[in-house]
Amino acid sequence: MDFFQLKNGELHAEDVPLSRIAEEVGTPVYVYSRATFERHARVFRDALSGLEQKPHIAFAVKANPNIAVLSLLSREGYGADVVSGGELSRALMAGMPAKDIVFSGVGKTQAELAQGLDEGIGQFNIESSEEGRELAELAHRRGQQAQATLRINPDVDAKTHEKISTGKAENKFGIPLIRAREVFGELAALDGLNLRGVAVHIGSQLLDLEPLETAFAKVGALVRDLRSDGHTITHVDLGGGLGVPYKAGEVPPSPAEYGAMVARATKGWDVHLTFEPGRVIAGNAGVLLTRVVRVKRGGNGPPFTIVDAAMNDLARPAMYGAWHDFDAVVPSGERMTSNIVGPICETGDTFARDRECDAVQSGDLAVFRTAGAYGATMASSYNSRGFVPEVMVDGDQFAVVADRIPAHAIMDAERVPDFLKD
Ligand SMILES: *Cc1c(COP(=O)(O)O)cnc(C)c1O
Repeated sequence: MDFFQLKNGELHAEDVPLSRIAEEVGTPVYVYSRATFERHARVFRDALSGLEQKPHIAFAVKANPNIAVLSLLSREGYGADVVSGGELSRALMAGMPAKDIVFSGVGKTQAELAQGLDEGIGQFNIESSEEGRELAELAHRRGQQAQATLRINPDVDAKTHEKISTGKAENKFGIPLIRAREVFGELAALDGLNLRGVAVHIGSQLLDLEPLETAFAKVGALVRDLRSDGHTITHVDLGGGLGVPYKAGEVPPSPAEYGAMVARATKGWDVHLTFEPGRVIAGNAGVLLTRVVRVKRGGNGPPFTIVDAAMNDLARPAMYGAWHDFDAVVPSGERMTSNIVGPICETGDTFARDRECDAVQSGDLAVFRTAGAYGATMASSYNSRGFVPEVMVDGDQFAVVADRIPAHAIMDAERVPDFLKD
């Protein structure tokens, strides 16, 4: 459920008409709803209330790294799952305690490992024996003990888009299950490392719980094996991945169903559980507000509705063939079939093909829905377009939580070298 609804014939974010934001901030612009974020954060937390121990929930920062968003989630008791030094800095800047931060990712550099140690973060999820040895040595040299889990690759097909599937044997993530006991034993023996458990994350936008349950069962078996090897296992990180509805008729498992499955799968584990939800918290808490530049007719197929947002602002359709609902801000009640495209000089800059949607004309405002996760954060400046601003709504007020970065600000960082000047 979200708080982007029609009121008096106009789409609002909570109590703010979207036309007001378009007038004051311009388009395109990402619009987030505080109430929706909070609702999703609470629903997810409540769904896990039946577990044997109170879980730690670390929001996957890569889904929406805006500092206002992180600060909102911090107030809800969420920590952060980060995958770079930059994301780590954001989480700290948003006021998240270092102990609530988990550092994931296959390519943490030495500098990033050191940054995590300097800040005293709560947990490193180690993805290779090489990384584990480097972290142990860095920590040992500083007289520290890094808190860590070993991420395993359970070789489970998450049945999602191949680019966001992370738990199959051929993916780059984690330690193959058959090597997990050996690598765990090797790393657990190192000074500087407190290897206290295991982590798993098999992919994103999962619409079926079965692959997750299969992966968790493999983790449970591994925990038993590691304990029988003499290791003390106190922590398991179950990652993120729960899908959200992008279009009518798509019914992902609810957080409650997910929570019930987790309770069943982890019964008797006797560990502290961590979760890393991203999309399920942020996806439907944001829209991309855009203006129709013009409608181009006269080709072979349906007309092209050209909007002022493009693939550089919202990459998911071009990158994953993803669907985002397209709705008029002031719907006339009429419908049309159209190709919805941006202005970028690539055919890939297509948001929707042959889409039946609200009829719109030149100058009208419209939104792409479900743009709160993997939206603004994946933007680029391709075609020398700037970066889109972000706005957060709270009841009848709103604030710009990220300025528009215009093309000239990006050009300011470029220069012509002396050797091209003579
Ligand atoms: C991307 C990612 C997540 C979040 O995935 P969602 O599908 O957005 O919930 C969690 N953990 C790790 C390690 C990730 O890479």
